[in-house]
Amino acid sequence: MRVCVIGTGYVGLVTGACLAHTGHHVICVDNNEQKVKMMKAGQSPIYEPGLSDIIQKASQEDLLEFTTDLAYGVNHGDILFIAVGTPALPTGESDTRYVEAVARGIGSHLEKGYKVIVNKSTVPIGSGDWVRMIVLDGIAERQKASGGGNSISGDEAAAKLGIEFDVVSNPEFLREGSAVYDTFNPDRIVLGGNSDKALSMMEELYQPIVKRKFGEDPSLPPVPVVKTDLSSAEMIKYAANSFLATKISYINEIANICDRVGADVVQVAKGIGLDSRIGTKFLQAGIGWGGSCFPKDVSALIHTSDDYGYDAQLLKAAVDVNKRQRTIAIEKLQHELKILKGKTVGLLGLTFKPDTDDMRDAPALNLIEQLNRLGTKVKAYDPIVSQSGIGQGLSGVVVETSPEQLAYACDALVVVTDWQQFLTLDYAAMAKVMNNPVIIDGRNFLDRKMLQKAGFRYVGIGCS
Ligand code: NAD
Repeated sequence: MRVCVIGTGYVGLVTGACLAHTGHHVICVDNNEQKVKMMKAGQSPIYEPGLSDIIQKASQEDLLEFTTDLAYGVNHGDILFIAVGTPALPTGESDTRYVEAVARGIGSHLEKGYKVIVNKSTVPIGSGDWVRMIVLDGIAERQKASGGGNSISGDEAAAKLGIEFDVVSNPEFLREGSAVYDTFNPDRIVLGGNSDKALSMMEELYQPIVKRKFGEDPSLPPVPVVKTDLSSAEMIKYAANSFLATKISYINEIANICDRVGADVVQVAKGIGLDSRIGTKFLQAGIGWGGSCFPKDVSALIHTSDDYGYDAQLLKAAVDVNKRQRTIAIEKLQHELKILKGKTVGLLGLTFKPDTDDMRDAPALNLIEQLNRLGTKVKAYDPIVSQSGIGQGLSGVVVETSPEQLAYACDALVVVTDWQQFLTLDYAAMAKVMNNPVIIDGRNFLDRKMLQKAGFRYVGIGCS
């Protein structure tokens, strides 16, 4: 099928490249010229395991193209994905201005014929109908500009030009760091809309993925496709992320109680997680959730609830617990070192999770800010950030290029990100060059006994 994906970030680029890999003809549009230049040269502007390979392969097979020209992409695609960012505004609500600009742009370039416009971005409930309205506005504006009459409505302009389209909500559930794997091995595909024609085109598009042709285990049953109305599909995305964030806040709350009563949250999480009604995933206590999705999606859902006069108490509590949890490493450092002013703390990891270069709303940023405020010198080592140019844009932290350099003259280390590489560092050598070999394991990730043998005092979260 012919597809256009607008916005080539973590979601759009992975979606476009993976759909091309399954045999569709995909044009990816982005208004960032620098990014488009890189992608045209076969490079991925983001770090995501396996992505560069499929971009190069699909580009060589002429199944994947990159452009800044929206009109070109819109005319190519029978299915047009909107995959631009929807960051949080200071009020907590979702900033939909990029979606609006794209929807208007699509409207101004649509030609005679039928298209499916897909909301892949995470957008507030009700955005399906809103996008339809904006696209129609775009069509009407173009008609007016070309002398079609100042009072022409979007519907009239579309009818006059023979333009037909439907809007579908197709929320994305991929995880950064395993985005390509997740796209080929999804737990489910959610399609929301009220047009059978549009929904069946979407089902056809996803057939190779539904049949697991590119999945890890093609013998598994087909991927479930959940077909809903627009609002329910939009709500599924917010409800899923809010549930996961709440689950983490829950185990962090239990961890804080464990710390006080002398229980071990790692054992507690195992003991409760083996109950199939609870499950083991998202039960790792730590220094709080962050990243580009959970914080903004939970606050957007709280904001929507407020708009409807409903006080979403549980979600607000999940956010409050998280706010507090993001200071837990400071509390533990103060307990170990007493005075932080004039001390040096080394952060192991900067990104909000392993296998990504994404630093948006990463707990590390909070930590750096708080430690700086307390007069502490902060150093960091991150397997990706230290090797790329991203670290240069960070203030208040010296980004080192090796774990040994990081450890040198530090009064404590804090594990911020659970990169696999951190399991096998030479901790004995690191302990020797530190002022004071203390490690706060903010992810309960390292082996306590191994660290103790290497000469460290080990402090976990909810198991100290
Ligand atoms: P991103 O910020 O990484 O990428 C957005 C891209 O859109 C950028 O490349 C930007 O240049 C481009 N863009 C902005 N305005 C444009 C325009 N007018 N025309 C063309 N391109 C334009 O965002 P992301 O992380 O990929 O997220 C995209 C959406 O997907 C968001 O709504 C997000 O909530 C949702 N989502 C993200 C994830 C994730 O893990 N990142 C997972 C699921 C859903």
